[in-house]
Amino acid sequence: MSSAIICPPPAARSRSFRWPFTSGRPAPRWVIAWRRQRNAALSLPLVILCAGAARSLTYSNRCAPRGIRGRFAAARSRPSRRFDGAWWRSVPDTTSGAGRYAPSPSGDLHFGNLRTALLAWLCARSTGRAFYMRVEDIDSGRSSDASAARQLEDLAALGVDWDGEVLYQHTRFAAYEDALRRLPTYECYCSRKDILAAAAAPHALLGAYPGTCRDLSEAERDHRRAALRAQGRVPALRLRSTVNSWTVTDEFVGDYVGLVDDMVLKRADWAYNLAVVVDDAFQNIDQVVRGDDLLSSAPRQAYLAHLLGVATPRYIHVPLVLNAAGQRLAKRDGPVTFREMGDDVLERLGASIGLPGARSAAELLERFSIGAIPREPFIWL
Ligand SMILES: [Zn+2]
Repeated sequence: MSSAIICPPPAARSRSFRWPFTSGRPAPRWVIAWRRQRNAALSLPLVILCAGAARSLTYSNRCAPRGIRGRFAAARSRPSRRFDGAWWRSVPDTTSGAGRYAPSPSGDLHFGNLRTALLAWLCARSTGRAFYMRVEDIDSGRSSDASAARQLEDLAALGVDWDGEVLYQHTRFAAYEDALRRLPTYECYCSRKDILAAAAAPHALLGAYPGTCRDLSEAERDHRRAALRAQGRVPALRLRSTVNSWTVTDEFVGDYVGLVDDMVLKRADWAYNLAVVVDDAFQNIDQVVRGDDLLSSAPRQAYLAHLLGVATPRYIHVPLVLNAAGQRLAKRDGPVTFREMGDDVLERLGASIGLPGARSAAELLERFSIGAIPREPFIWL
């Protein structure tokens, strides 16, 4: 009896508490039916929303391709990374990062270039990353399409494959312009001779631009701009840097502190340092493998990445291939290109990275580990 008072039957409770106009009296049947329909109509969109959220939460796990092959397939099926108006608006990457090789198309790749390309590919693929190819043809005077095509053919013949379309820097000028607008810059009217003379002065930082044009007045700028125009030249644009050095982390060297100065971002052509940072960000590159002659420019690039608000990639600077005289291998050192070397190129490349006897790039990939990359230059004999 007492339990019935404390807790009335559900039907009675809902009727007596929810009918607002006649307290104590049960609501009419049509009101109850209307309420049920209204509740159903309101809850249907809610159910659809919840189902959608649950599906999207489980989608990546359920549908993500498994294993290395699956990752490659996923990367290939991704939409093209063609520039769509803003350099930072790259397609979101669902893989665990990407590596790249970025040759300059000014002649056939030689053994040293091929070795760096192979190492970049091995580092990316062995860590489950996508691998992209970028043709660094901003130097319009030295680059040619024919050379780029031959280089890509040689890399493919070696067994180095890449995801998506090849990115050509000559298609990226609007993106560099966009990035340039986001950086503090000033015009520089110095010739190379002016810079060398100023940099030779006491207290000048070795190799750094001395800041000659940094604090000129508007009147001085007008005067020097007009003088350049009379010679048919345009001013360079330099970064107004607020630091003298920057630290990067390299896989082999560890923390590396390098010089940062008011670097050129644009002259007649775009500067490499700006282009490489913008393109690495665009392609979601988080692992940069390249020759250790570029280690000293990594801090400048990392500082630009910092100013542009994009992530700095993990650097792996690998020792170069040197000739018997200890100089960087060049085409004058004999038959050193892929086409000149004959059938054993891959075997020789494998031996140079401590993996002798390999017959294919796939076999190298099975045996490769980043930690085992030789730390000494390879001597070409
Ligand atoms: Zn200057």
